[in-house]
Amino acid sequence: MRSLVEPNPRARAGEAGAKKPAGRQKEGWPRLPRGPYNQMHGRGRETERTSPERTIRMLTATHFYSYASCPRWAYLDMHGDRGLRHAPSEFLQKLLSDGRHHERAVLEQLGAERVGFDGKDVEGAVARTAAAMAAGVPRIAGAVLAAGGDGRVERLGVADLLERVPGRSRLGGHHYEVVEIKTARRVKPPYRMQLAFYSDLLAGVQGVAPQHAHLIMGDDRRESFPLAGVRGRFEAQLARLREIHAGHEPPVYVSSTCTTCPWRGVCVPQAEAEGHVSLVYGLQREAVSRLDGRGVRTCTDLARLDPACLDEWTGCGPSWARRLVGQARSLMQDGVVWRDDPRLPRGGVELFFDIEGDPDTDALYLFGVLARDGHGERYVPFLAERPEEEARAFLACLEFFESYPQAPIYHYHHYERTSLRRLVERYGVEAARVERLAARLRDLSADVLASCYLPIRSYSLKAVARYLGFEWTQHNSSAVQSVVWFSSWLRTGDRGCLERAVEYNSDDCRATRVLKDWLASGPHGVPEEETAESSTPAAV
Ligand code: SF4
Repeated sequence: MRSLVEPNPRARAGEAGAKKPAGRQKEGWPRLPRGPYNQMHGRGRETERTSPERTIRMLTATHFYSYASCPRWAYLDMHGDRGLRHAPSEFLQKLLSDGRHHERAVLEQLGAERVGFDGKDVEGAVARTAAAMAAGVPRIAGAVLAAGGDGRVERLGVADLLERVPGRSRLGGHHYEVVEIKTARRVKPPYRMQLAFYSDLLAGVQGVAPQHAHLIMGDDRRESFPLAGVRGRFEAQLARLREIHAGHEPPVYVSSTCTTCPWRGVCVPQAEAEGHVSLVYGLQREAVSRLDGRGVRTCTDLARLDPACLDEWTGCGPSWARRLVGQARSLMQDGVVWRDDPRLPRGGVELFFDIEGDPDTDALYLFGVLARDGHGERYVPFLAERPEEEARAFLACLEFFESYPQAPIYHYHHYERTSLRRLVERYGVEAARVERLAARLRDLSADVLASCYLPIRSYSLKAVARYLGFEWTQHNSSAVQSVVWFSSWLRTGDRGCLERAVEYNSDDCRATRVLKDWLASGPHGVPEEETAESSTPAAV
């Protein structure tokens, strides 16, 4: 099996760059239990006493974000050795930098007064925030809110903005509500949890619970919501996070989330060493937990399982059970298991299509098409060099498609189809044109899943095409890196960045073509029926 992650260079023992924890070591704070993470890293009570890396950190709003992605992520953020974290990607750094710029601009426009906080003097910053609230400052930026017991800070929040509203409280005839400033244009569920967390801390300071919380989005739109509507979910997540804070270690669950998680250098090697069952693509977290209760813990256990048992134990349905067991067998045999011929058209003009866009702003900047006929192929990029050129680029691409009315349009996954739907609504394209286009789109990710099992752990275009031998020209290319290049181009005017984004898109189109040709030239590997002989129920 191939590794999902590159080794983390900073994870090598003793190397510089391993950061110290931000939290303070306090006598009497809970100690780390000896869970699998600690056993793997040889960490027990002896080590805790001597290593500041083992200090349990305060519970913050960030933990609601990491918890929403993976409960174990929150655990490792609280208890893990920060020297083992992967450094933030360029894309994440871009998001953080965009966020800081947007926040600064909004706060300046609102004329908010900032509470200074150096990240260390928590008590001082909490006291300054409380003083500003007592003085009735209309807008307080960077408000530091904390809660705890026995003189210890256990929960800490730094809210972008507090806004004064009328109504009695411990402060007098006013109190405050929380406002968060985001670059995104759509409200995501963790935003509400973050606001509920700050509002809960705020209630402790002002002696009255705020009724509403607010978001200022990337397009300066304001979204407000009543906190009563999220209280139940917030309390459930807070209770779960408190258990994790106290040392309850959620198990490893390898999924696509791991590729962006800073702890992938910890969990994925552990899962690989164990042959953990979550390495089987498509197995849900809940199913992993149920299978664990039945003694099915490794890919080998799953490969030996009768799909009917899997369906009965997890309720995943017969066809998905067949898929999961087939996937496990492919991993065990380290080879292709063939299910069915995808019956793809051959010959004539074929179009391979890939879109690049910024998920945070919903802006699409590149519509790339690789056109192939019996004589050769050519790549045609329809590029919106500035966000305001999106309509022109999209409509030019649409006309290009219409100039080959019989050609199938191959793409990978649903992004192209859903983006086209959004664009036709945005630019009012006639329904008949849209229907004709939609009928020609063919998602090869559905074909690959229906035709075969590959010995890989993700069915992204990158993972599938790389398995087939295709390599991207730029070693660090990815969809999010393309967004970084495009935004660098917008900021600096460096055409090299734009060219890298176009080259990446051209490679994506070629990778789609490689996949189509491979599928059309099947069958490959071992027929699925021949793997069934090892399907005797595992001794569980
Ligand atoms: S690497 Fe994966 S399993 Fe580990 S914390 Fe991150 S998302 Fe969770």
